[in-house]
Amino acid sequence: MKKQKQLEVAFLGGVGEIGKNMTAIRYADDIIIVDCGSTFPSMDDTPGIDLIIPDFSFIKENIDNVKGIFITHGHEDHIGGVPYLLSECGNIPIYGSSLTLALIKHKLAEKKIDIPKLNAVKGGDVKKAGAFSVEFVNVTHSISGAFALSINYPGGALFHTGDYKIDYTPVDGESIDLARIAEIGNSGVTLMLGESTNIEKKGTTISEREVGVTLERIIETNPDKRIIIATFASNVNRVQQIINICQRVGRRVAFDGRSMVKISEIAKSLKMLSWQENTVLDIEDIKDVEPNKLCIISTGSQGEPMSALTRMANGEDKEVVIGDNDVVVISSQPIPGNEKAVYTLINNLYRCGAKVLYGSLEQLHVSGHACQDELKLMMSLVRPKYFIPVHGEFRHLKKHEELAMSMGIAKENIKLVDIGNRIAINKKSIQFIDSVEAGEVYVDGDSNVDSLVLKDRKQLSRDGVVIALLNINVENRQLTSVDILTRGIVLEEEFSEFIKSMIADIFQSSAYKNESERGGLKNGIRKKVARLILNKLKQRPMILPLLIEQIKEEKSQESDSEEI
Ligand SMILES: [Zn+2]
Ligand SMILES: [Zn+2]
Repeated sequence: MKKQKQLEVAFLGGVGEIGKNMTAIRYADDIIIVDCGSTFPSMDDTPGIDLIIPDFSFIKENIDNVKGIFITHGHEDHIGGVPYLLSECGNIPIYGSSLTLALIKHKLAEKKIDIPKLNAVKGGDVKKAGAFSVEFVNVTHSISGAFALSINYPGGALFHTGDYKIDYTPVDGESIDLARIAEIGNSGVTLMLGESTNIEKKGTTISEREVGVTLERIIETNPDKRIIIATFASNVNRVQQIINICQRVGRRVAFDGRSMVKISEIAKSLKMLSWQENTVLDIEDIKDVEPNKLCIISTGSQGEPMSALTRMANGEDKEVVIGDNDVVVISSQPIPGNEKAVYTLINNLYRCGAKVLYGSLEQLHVSGHACQDELKLMMSLVRPKYFIPVHGEFRHLKKHEELAMSMGIAKENIKLVDIGNRIAINKKSIQFIDSVEAGEVYVDGDSNVDSLVLKDRKQLSRDGVVIALLNINVENRQLTSVDILTRGIVLEEEFSEFIKSMIADIFQSSAYKNESERGGLKNGIRKKVARLILNKLKQRPMILPLLIEQIKEEKSQESDSEEI
C-alpha cells in the first residue's frame, strides 16, 4: 500500500535531551535519516554503561525504504550511533563532509564493520535520495565540515539548522553561508528544525579566534614553562591555532591522548591541519626537547577517567610527569554533569605543583552553539511556516518556542516534541500522528543491556546484595541449613540469625517437593527478607535466594542456575 503523500518526521533522539541526535524524515515511501548520534552516560544514572544510542526499531522496520543517512557534522552526538545502526540494519549510504566521513570510517574500522558507500560533500552540493533532494549549506560550529541541510520534497521544503554558531571570522575561512540561507528562506521553507542548545544565553557567541588570542598571551607570558593544553580533539581549528602560535614562538608540539593523536592524523591527511616540518614530535620523544620549548596538546578537558590529562594529574602517565614547571590550560567548559570530574582533575593538577588556567579565569573556550541573537537571525532569514525546536532539553525547546513566537510564528505552527513523536506536515497543518518505538539503548562493551540490568546495577551500588543459601537434602527434601552472604550491606549477627530462622519457617510451610515449587518459594523468601531489612535498616538490597540440593553425604552440589 502506498503511503499517504505528506511529510512525516519521526524524532528518534536529540529532543528533550542534548545528545544522540537522530531524525527520520519520510515522504511517501522514501525515508532519509538525519544524524545518528550517541550520548555519553553518567555514572550516577547509568553505572558501567559505555554509551547510550537511540532505539533503531523504527529504522529496522522500515529499512527497505531508507535512502541514506545525512550527517550534519562529526560530533559524537551526531555520529556516535552510526556503527551500531549499520551493524543492526546493514549497509546504508552515508553523506557528510570529508572530516565527518573520515571520523565515521575510523569508528567503523575500529569495530570491524563493513564500510558502506560514503559520499563526501561540500557546501552547496545537492544530493538526490528518493523523493528528497538535500542541499548541504555551510555553517560554523566547533568542528569543521558542519552543515545545515535544506531538504526539498514534492510540495515543500524542510530546513534543518544542524549545530551552528555565527562566526564571522572562522579560523578555517569557511564562513556560514548566510546569503544562501537567506535565499532558501526567500524561496519558502515549510518546516524548520532549529538547534536550541544556547537559547538561554543572551547576545552572540564569541569567535573561535578570541581563544587563539588568549592562548597566545598565555604562551608568550610563560616563556620558561612547559605548556600543556587540554581541549576537544575534534576542534581542529583550535588545535591549528595552538600549532600556529607554537611555530611563531619556537615551541614544538606533541599530541597526547588516543583521540587527539588519531583526529590530528586524520585532519592532517585531509589538509585541514598543517604544520611545518619539525614542529610535531611523538609524545615518546618529548624528553629530547627542553620543557620550555614544548607544548603538549592533550585530551581530557572533561576529566574523563581514562584520558591523558587525568593520567598526568594522577601521576600515572609514562611520558608526562607534571611539576611546578608546568602551565596546564583547560581549554573547554565542563559539559553539564562533568563538573565534579573536572574540578577533581584541577585539584590534582594543582597538587602536582602545576599552574592551572581554566574556564572562569580567562577566555579559554567559546561555545559552538548560537546564542539568542544568532538564533533570531537564523529565524529571520529562514522564516519558516512551521517550527520545531530540537537539540535541547525540554526547557531549551520551550524557550526556543517563546523566541519563535516573539518573532511572529503562531503558537499552533510550533510543536514541542518528545523522543518517538511522529509529526505530519501538509500545506494546511502540522500535527502529531503517533509515537513510534524509540528510546535509549545502553551499550556495555560488545553487548546491549536493557533498563532492567541498569536497575539491578543501581540497586547493587546503592544497597548491596543479600544471598540466602538454602541447603536441601535431595532425598528427603528437608532443609539442612541456611547461610546468609552479603556484599555492600552489613547485617548484625543476631539479625542475620533471625533471617535464617524465618527462612527456615517459610521453607517448612512451603511443602517444597519438587522443581515446580521453586519459583514460589524463592519469591516468598525474597519478599519477606526484603520487608524485614527495609523495616529494620531502611535499606533495599537485592535479595537472591539460592536453593542448593545436596545428594546425601557426598559433597557434590548442584545449584540451580540463578542469575547472581
Ligand atoms: Zn556539534
Ligand atoms: Zn550536537
